[in-house]
Amino acid sequence: MKRSTIQLVIVLATVSLTGIIIIQILWFQKAFALKETQLNQSIQVSLKNVAEKILFYNNNPSTLVNPVNQVASNYYIVMINDVIDAKVLELYLKQEFEHREILIDFEYGIYDCSTQKMVYGNYVKAIKTAYEKGEPQSQKPQPTVLPILNRENYYFGVYFPTRNEYLIGELDMWVFTSLILLIVVIFFAYTIFVILKQKRLSEIQTDFINNMTHEFKTPISTISISSEVLMKPNIIENPERLLNYATIIHNENKRLKNQVEHILQMATLTKEDLQLHKEALDVHELIHKVVRNQEVTLKKFGGTIRLHLDSQPVVIHADSLHLTNMIYNLLDNAIKYSREAPQIDIYTENKKNGITIAIADQGIGIAPETKRHIFDKFYRVPKGDVHDVKGFGLGLNYVKLLVDAHKGNIKVESELGKGTKFTIYLPF
Ligand code: ATP
Ligand code: MG
Repeated sequence: MKRSTIQLVIVLATVSLTGIIIIQILWFQKAFALKETQLNQSIQVSLKNVAEKILFYNNNPSTLVNPVNQVASNYYIVMINDVIDAKVLELYLKQEFEHREILIDFEYGIYDCSTQKMVYGNYVKAIKTAYEKGEPQSQKPQPTVLPILNRENYYFGVYFPTRNEYLIGELDMWVFTSLILLIVVIFFAYTIFVILKQKRLSEIQTDFINNMTHEFKTPISTISISSEVLMKPNIIENPERLLNYATIIHNENKRLKNQVEHILQMATLTKEDLQLHKEALDVHELIHKVVRNQEVTLKKFGGTIRLHLDSQPVVIHADSLHLTNMIYNLLDNAIKYSREAPQIDIYTENKKNGITIAIADQGIGIAPETKRHIFDKFYRVPKGDVHDVKGFGLGLNYVKLLVDAHKGNIKVESELGKGTKFTIYLPF
């Protein structure tokens, strides 16, 4: 799939998912508001009935006009202006609420109108009790011993502390579909993640194949041209040319062989088949050796290496061949990824239980967004189709693998255009 197609798919899917989420939220809000109105209405009617029933119980012939007043979303005040018997009130409240299927916990309080003080209050859990199963409307409760203060001066308040939870509980279908939607969103995000990862892997693979073909093409065509020359009948009369072309073929062949070996060695190396032959090593000696080997290449580019070997006990326990390769790879990168004459600094330093080796260049640097990929196998910082710097993206993967095998760690500091510093920590 092309990158633009993937982007289009992601954008479309995100837009439609966002749309669905918004619709879901809007519908949820609507359904909640509807339930809320219904509940308010039922509560108001119930409370009005309760008030009327209390008056009837008190044998009070007066009628009530708008006795119920909703003070907050979950608090109601009912004006009675008569005596209120707590037990009677509680029973009527329970009966009315149950009748209208308002199964919410509630608190009620009886207030004295003149002093605004609560004279009685209770918390009632919304469970159906035995006596409510009878005939709630016709039952007459037994009176209690609530202190009757001054007559005709009471009102009561009803408070629903768990009202919102109850409303949400009533919308269980909506909660369920929202959960499903959430799962869909998570799956969608995961799918996108996998697609992008696969895409990156396939790009890396294509890059690698391009790279390899390019690397192999040059020696192969050189060999082919040289052998054509060698096939000419009169070449035998010119032994010097013959030797010349034979040497070219030999060298190119050697280069090819080395490359194939390099790829095979690094690409197939895994943690499992890695065997370390640890021995006591002088790190500084090893660094000197690698630097000496790279001197020819360095001279070609007119570069310099400065050594700052400051660590004291330079003997560590490590695999000499692999450690040499690690330093070689880092140095090779430092030279390869410097635009002009490479200026390289190598530092060693003592740490608590080990030593750090740092290789710093003043080359092209690595962009922050690509930094986390450079240790991936076959990964090379994309430069389009330009193959000015040769490589297969295996060096750093190898270095990381071996640093891990030595129970050390590797750190990169880099700034685009300024340079890069790789620091390896190895325990003694
Ligand atoms: P190989 O090492 O297999 O020959 P390579 O050098 O391309 O190939 P790595 O050594 O794994 O592969 O490096 C991966 C990528 O990290 C490189 O392609 C390069 O883009 C980037 N990189 C590595 N070292 C440096 C450096 N010192 N400065 C700038 N970029 C670097
Ligand atoms: Mg490299």
